[in-house]
Amino acid sequence: MNFRCPVCKKQYVTSLQVARHIFGTGDKPHRGWVESKGYSFIDLLLEQATGPGNKSYEILAKVVEESQAEIKD
Ligand SMILES: [Zn+2]
Repeated sequence: MNFRCPVCKKQYVTSLQVARHIFGTGDKPHRGWVESKGYSFIDLLLEQATGPGNKSYEILAKVVEESQAEIKD
């Protein structure tokens, strides 16, 4: 199963790759989507940069998974 970016609909094999893509892109639409899900893009990014492991990626990957049904063609 492929996962799509809820913002630009780009496809990836794993939800973690979508999360990485969202952080890596970081433009206004992608930041806005993260905020619309109740998370602070900056806080997640800082946590990822300063904390151990992939916690922020994993949080965002889960949100990406939960949002797949909302993506319209
Ligand atoms: Zn995207």
